[in-house]
Amino acid sequence: MSETPRARPGIGRPQAEALVDLGAIAHNTRILVEHAGDAGVMAVVKADGYNHGALPVARAALEAGATELGVATVTEALALRAGGVSAPVLCWLHAPGTDFARAIDAGIGIGVSSPRQVVEVADAARSAGKPALVSLKVDTGMNRNGVGADELDACLDALVAARRAGDLTVHGLFSHLVSADVPADPVNDMQKRRFDAAAESMSRAGIAPRVRHLANSAAALTRPDMAYDLVRPGIALYGLSPAPDVGDFGLRPAMTVRATVVLLKRVAAGEGVSYGHEWIAPTDTTVALLPVGYADGITRHLKNRYEVSINGRRYPAVGRVCMDQVVVDVGPGRPDVDEGDTGYFFGPGDHGEPSAQDWADTLGTINYEVVTGIKGRVERTFQDDIS
Ligand SMILES: *Cc1c(COP(=O)(O)O)cnc(C)c1O
Repeated sequence: MSETPRARPGIGRPQAEALVDLGAIAHNTRILVEHAGDAGVMAVVKADGYNHGALPVARAALEAGATELGVATVTEALALRAGGVSAPVLCWLHAPGTDFARAIDAGIGIGVSSPRQVVEVADAARSAGKPALVSLKVDTGMNRNGVGADELDACLDALVAARRAGDLTVHGLFSHLVSADVPADPVNDMQKRRFDAAAESMSRAGIAPRVRHLANSAAALTRPDMAYDLVRPGIALYGLSPAPDVGDFGLRPAMTVRATVVLLKRVAAGEGVSYGHEWIAPTDTTVALLPVGYADGITRHLKNRYEVSINGRRYPAVGRVCMDQVVVDVGPGRPDVDEGDTGYFFGPGDHGEPSAQDWADTLGTINYEVVTGIKGRVERTFQDDIS
């Protein structure tokens, strides 16, 4: 389009990229370590590190002061071990028939949520020839995973029996909060009381937990009284606020989603753009085509309600989001954009781009879903700091 080609920093990079700033992961970890006081920090790297890459995130967080790692499944935990991570790892979401023996063999901590799971883990320990390292997950009000009040005694009995048989070590007690993003919600205090009561019950049964943990990111940052022995942050590690109404806590978003402008095109006034011609050019203008679409997690629900930053300026999306492509209007006259330039979709804002939180607000969802939603052909790359 322009007669004088400029330097094109985008050339040679993936045409669609999720750049993960490991320096930001380290920075956010240090903030969490500071808030944790005497408590340890379990970095939650489930769902492939909230889609940031579990292994690199785990290494960066451990280096910056996290003391252990948390994931949902045995498979995720084994992947950390296979990647050479030797730090303590806990996993807590298991279908019947889960291969606990492999987890026990790999020294992975297992969170149990029912008497049946205690028995399964004990059986697996016998076939592994080694006691399991078990933490009890109690349900203090979420009514989701975790052992409920009606089964707590049965679970404690099962734990006591299995411990006596030498099949397991009772390591921890943990639970998950319902409304930690609303720090003043009384449900937080109710859960804390129930959690303390569960710890008491364990002590009375002769299996006092060595490590108690209740706080997710939001509680880790707003409720120091809930830190206990360990906090269990996820989203804050990735630099997104767990309680956007409260603040950003000095966190730095770690993921930047960007793509290369593949084509510029003049569009005459009155011409429509993309499927269904939902957008008609009001004037003669130029549009820029970017090679990401709903197959890459640029959800169709965004419609035109987002902007892409190119060379530090925001341009409005026009027309429908397609499977592979989106289009932005770079305006009438000589465009300030070249083919090969980089379009920034969301990130920390260093290039004038919106935040994942902005996308969440637009979509009526949470920042967690925005970063975990990026997929398809977007290539993940890593950098210690974005320049
Ligand atoms: C996902 C998860 C966390 C982390 O929650 P964030 O809100 O991301 O900090 C902590 N504990 C459990 C049990 C979880 O499932």
